[in-house]
Amino acid sequence: MKKLVLPSTFADEIIAHAKEGAPLEVCGILATKDGQITQVYRAYNIAQSPVTYTMDPKDQLRIFKDMEERGWELWGIYHSHPATEAQPSATDIRMAYYPEAYYLIISLARPEKALVRAFRILGGQVLEEKLMIE
Ligand SMILES: [Zn+2]
Repeated sequence: MKKLVLPSTFADEIIAHAKEGAPLEVCGILATKDGQITQVYRAYNIAQSPVTYTMDPKDQLRIFKDMEERGWELWGIYHSHPATEAQPSATDIRMAYYPEAYYLIISLARPEKALVRAFRILGGQVLEEKLMIE
């Protein structure tokens, strides 16, 4: 299994976003250049729900445009699970439109220790990737 590295500064950023947004889910995008993560983009969850997310299409467009201008690519899509495990929900699987992206889920189910897990979601199949935060 390929080792997937999430630098701790970016892990801290997405965990902070998840905590700020709780009890609602938050979402965003991680960009990459040459295999290195370059930036975390926060996006607005228009669902404003504690159990699901829908990334604001305007934010998504703005983020993809910015990435393109900088020569960056989509690395991953993150969202939070404020009260449940870091496991993709049936909706997460159904709405996973980017087979090339890593789907990161931040679980705040244990408030003392936020947990981040990474998945690929391909044609309804969920494959967990070993995520190293370092
Ligand atoms: Zn979810």
